[in-house]
Amino acid sequence: MPKYKVVITARSFGESSDEPFNILKGNDCEVVKIPADRPLSAEELIPLVKDADALIVGNDKVTEDVINAGKKLKVISRYGVGYDNVDLNAAKKKGIVVTNTPNANNNSVADLVIGLMLVLARNLLAVDRIVKSGGWKRIMGTEIYGKTLGIIGLGKIGKGVAKRAKGFDMNVLCYDVYQDLKFAEEYGITYCSFEELLKQSDIVTIHVPLAPETKGLIGERELGMMKPTAFLINTSRGGIVDESALYNALANKKIAGAALDVMEQEPPINSPLLQLDNVVITSHIGGYTCEAITNMGIVAAKNVVLVLNK
Ligand code: NAD
Repeated sequence: MPKYKVVITARSFGESSDEPFNILKGNDCEVVKIPADRPLSAEELIPLVKDADALIVGNDKVTEDVINAGKKLKVISRYGVGYDNVDLNAAKKKGIVVTNTPNANNNSVADLVIGLMLVLARNLLAVDRIVKSGGWKRIMGTEIYGKTLGIIGLGKIGKGVAKRAKGFDMNVLCYDVYQDLKFAEEYGITYCSFEELLKQSDIVTIHVPLAPETKGLIGERELGMMKPTAFLINTSRGGIVDESALYNALANKKIAGAALDVMEQEPPINSPLLQLDNVVITSHIGGYTCEAITNMGIVAAKNVVLVLNK
């Protein structure tokens, strides 16, 4: 009988490769993968965690109650980067290690940002709809080549976007609480104030984590500073952009368009943003590629094994 029980609620864990499962099974772990079509609530997690030694979670709500219910729990392995869904203080109090999978999906998210920039600038979704409904009308787009890109949060994903943007000869501005001057010099990137970035950029892309300091970071005031021709892209977390302020800015053409991979509520049932033509919404697919799913699974499994074998 295996020594440890690992409960997995991360929906796409092992979807693209068996290797993550094999790592766990080869290290004395019984693996229980919970079938779910959305992140689980705390109430749903509590019965699952009771006799688990380890939990591998996606965006499921790992609250203090969940952590207290895990009597044998030693590690919460977050399958992904942001851990705003895990109560870190509660885990710390109980000596439970919380890990994540940085570097595993940053290329996938950075690729998506470039895709969304082109979708917005060339009206790709609207043109596709016209053609499929029998039309052949053209919508004039704008180039992204040589434009100014503002990156809020020059961490792993922000840097990936910056490197790709340099392939389009973009003028890259960034704002971050920490400055990596070596990277900025190597790639010709300029650090500036938050306000300067908003005022000067043709495209603003958000890559800060969701935290008390970043909740509502982009609201009415910030959207009001952006150019009327500018686009906003958020692939980071819902809640960083104030969605009602964004709705007003888009409906009143204060900015030209937005692309959101993340929303305050996912799925965004009844969000008025769904009614607008100048916003593109994807279903939190930033890290959902074959490569990222394999990488995240392997790292999340290895993190569990490292803690259990400590
Ligand atoms: P990272 O930690 O490497 O980078 C975050 C950067 O934000 C850091 O440079 C940090 O200094 C900066 N920062 C933090 N707080 C700030 C603040 N208040 N003001 C300005 N800068 C601040 O993280 P990463 O790997 O680049 O990921 C960024 C975020 O992307 C994650 O937190 C996660 O929420 C999100 N993400 C989304 C998807 C998706 O599927 N859409 C996938 C992966 C990650």
